[in-house]
Parts: sequence; C-alpha cells; structure tokens
Amino acid sequence: MSQIRVRIAPSPTGIPHIGNTRTAFYNFLFARHHGGKFYVRIEDTDRARLIPESLPKIMEILDWLKIEYDNKPVYVQSEHLENYKKAADELIQKNKAYYCFCSEERLKKLKEEQTARHEPPRYDRHCLSLTPQEINQKIKNGERYVIRLKIPENREISWVDLIRGKITVNSKELDDQVLLKSDGFPTYHLAVIFDDNLMKITHVLRGAEWISSTPKHILLYEAFGYEKPLWGHLPLILGPDRAKLSKRHGAQSALEYRDAGYLPEAILNTMLFWGWSPKNDQQFFSTPEMIEKFDIDGINKNDPVVDLKKLDYFNGYYIRQKSSQELFDLMNPYMQDDEKKWGREKILMIIPLIKDRLRKLSEWKELTRGFFVAPDVKQTATLLQAIDGVCNRKPESMQILQKILDYLKNPAVWDNNDVWQTGLRKIADEFKIKHGDLFMILRIAVWGEKITPPLYETMKVIGNSESLDRIQKLL
Ligand code: GLU
Repeated sequence: MSQIRVRIAPSPTGIPHIGNTRTAFYNFLFARHHGGKFYVRIEDTDRARLIPESLPKIMEILDWLKIEYDNKPVYVQSEHLENYKKAADELIQKNKAYYCFCSEERLKKLKEEQTARHEPPRYDRHCLSLTPQEINQKIKNGERYVIRLKIPENREISWVDLIRGKITVNSKELDDQVLLKSDGFPTYHLAVIFDDNLMKITHVLRGAEWISSTPKHILLYEAFGYEKPLWGHLPLILGPDRAKLSKRHGAQSALEYRDAGYLPEAILNTMLFWGWSPKNDQQFFSTPEMIEKFDIDGINKNDPVVDLKKLDYFNGYYIRQKSSQELFDLMNPYMQDDEKKWGREKILMIIPLIKDRLRKLSEWKELTRGFFVAPDVKQTATLLQAIDGVCNRKPESMQILQKILDYLKNPAVWDNNDVWQTGLRKIADEFKIKHGDLFMILRIAVWGEKITPPLYETMKVIGNSESLDRIQKLL
C-alpha cells in the first residue's frame, strides 16, 4: 500500500473534551506505527456554531500532549471556500446535485407535516423539477439557494469498516443532503470529501457517531470519481452509566486536566485503553511503546465503559517515575511565594517525602501544608482530647507529650532515625501504650493531622527547634 495518511478534522465549536482527543491520539499512533502522515484540518464551515477561541485551544492540547502533526500551518477550510464552490458546480454539471430555492418556512412546514405523519423528515425534491431557464432566472433575481446532493433511488451502499466489518445502508434512508449553503459555505459533507481527497487521505478513523454520514460520503466519492479511503469507526467512549462520556461524567478537556495537575504521560496512557487493548496485560506504555504496539486489529468494536479515576492511578505512577528535580519544576506553579522562599534545596528534601502519596501535582498544597505552617493549637488540642476520649487513655496525650518533649530536647537523639525511634518507643513502654499510639500523638502535635509524611524526616525538614516549638506551644 502507498504511504498511509490520516487526519483529524476538528470543528472549532468548543474546546474538545478528552474523548475527542482520544480520536486524535489514535490517528497519530496509527500514522506513526506505519511511518505515515498525520494531518490536522480545521473544519470551520459551520459559521453559526463557530467559537473562535476554541481553535488555539485545540492546537494547545495537541502541543501539550506532543501529538505531533505533519502539516504546519494546519489546513483551515474557510481559507479555501472557492474550492467547495467549484466542487459543488462540478456536481451540478455532472447531474449529481441540484439547486434548491426552497425557503426556510417551506422546509419547516414540510418537516412538520412529515413528523405529523410519522415519516422521517426528508426533502421532497420540490426543486428537482425546475428547468434550466427557471433556475437561471431565479439566480438572476438574486434568490437565495442551496445545492443538494441527488441521492440515487433505492441503492445499496456498502463498505467494509476496518473495525466493524461490512455495513450496508439503502439510499432510501438518506435525505438529499445540502452540500453548499446559501451563505456560500460548504456543509461538512462536501468539504470533508473534497479535502480528504485533496490531502490523499488513505484511512478515515473517526468516532462511531459518524457512521450515518459515511453512506453519503461514499455517494459523493462516486459522484466526483475520487478514489475512496478506508473507513474505521472507533468505539464511542461511555461513562459508568453507559451514556456517551461527557462533561456530565466529569470529563474535561485535556487542558483542564493539565491545570488540575495531571501529567501528559498519564492522559495518553489512559486514553490508549479507551477502545484499544494490547495483546498482553501490559498497563504502562511510553509513547514509543504505544507507537510500536498500536494497530487497528487491537481496536475493539464494543464501546468501552471508562472510569476517570483510572487517570489518578496512571498519574500517580508517572509522578513516581519523575526525579525530585523534575517534580520541583512541575509543582512550581502550585507553590506559594512564601513556600518558595524556603529555597530549592529545602523543598527538594520535601518532595521524596510526599511523592508516594501524590496523585495530582495540585495536591502539593494539602500534602505539604504542615511543613510550612504550624497547626492551629486549639484544633490540635481538641483532636488529641477526642482521641484520648475514644481510647479512654490514661495518662492523657498531653502528659505523654511533655515526656516526648523532654526527650527530644536532647540534640543527640536526632542523629538518626533509629536512635530517635528507640528512645520514643521506650517512652511508650514506660507509659504502657502502643508504640503506634505514641507516634500518632507526636504526629498530631507537630502537624495537626493524623496522616503525615514519614515523621522523623518530616520533623528534620521542619527543623528541630521549630518542631519542639510546636509541641511546646501546644502544651
Ligand atoms: N468535523 C468533524 C468533527 O467535528 C470531523 C468528522 C470526521 O472526522 O469526518 O469531528
């Protein structure tokens, strides 16, 4: 086969959510796997739904995820309007399309009548019988018109879908599709065919929601006499309630995930499984591995039900792969100015202490607060009293803490974790309480919460005198 060429053709009608980005990613992987080309084409011909700010966001998503494309600058349909006008005229000449002058009101009424009769809404070919003279006259009079595809009657249209096998549709199911609108812009159907042919696209891999468009596209390829590509309709991505994944399920754009503290590696690895499975049970894939393993035969027909929590799992994994230096840079945007004043060296000591618990970079604040800020004394005292109450502890935490403080005042016990812990365990034994309970008391006293990073290292980073000071204030 000649070189593989695929494309994504986003419409800038909003910021694509992560499900749409999956389709871009699969096209990229497929192209790279086969040493082919991956193009981006902006389909901005629906002027009513256009949201200009979404275009830079589409590009930003691809750049951030390093989904690299081969045509720079990208192809933008609205810059090539003359092509579509010519293409529509060509179909008129070939008697495959016709002018339609019907008004909005007439079409609306037609649709209402058909709906009332429980018929599918179809254009009734009212304008098909116009003579060339009538058409010329109307155009001369400046009447607005559209150009419609003349769907052949009662024809079986088939293609062998790369993912779903043979699909056949009868042309009776199809409406005489508008190709060129009265504003001079093409509809999606005309523009997509013209440009896929122009760009010599060999494989159209797109979401299953486009299956119903494919028969019309096949008719257009035949009407133009263009060589057809192969089509593969990717499975839809479903949320846990089996409805198509959307904002309702918490699905956001990749950029929102980025700002919430997710790494690109985690997003790519998560999306990889949204419709594709490896031949073994490998879970974590670098981009080169994805390119090596990805192919059409691994794409499933069935719509995957996805759990967005999986993203946290992958993100935690990729965070743990990063060095402290890398994480320092990645978490910098989440650090407060007074935290940054601690300096790079000191902050680099914190990172290994929280890395294992980090699921998102944005958790920096909640996981490190105790390093920078002493806990509220009243709240901490209340928490300790509550615990004393639950286990009916005698002696109470405060007495134990006094003993701990006396012990920790000796700088020699801070030399290493072993010495430090042995002494604390002895105190627990003297009070006849569990070792774990003693460490919990100390943890709460220093940090204000029951969960902290490893205690000895944490108190060393906070500093001996500051740690003792926190205990002293509480007492
Ligand atoms: N412009 C369409 C979209 O918004 C492209 C569909 C296709 O890939 O053919 O997704």
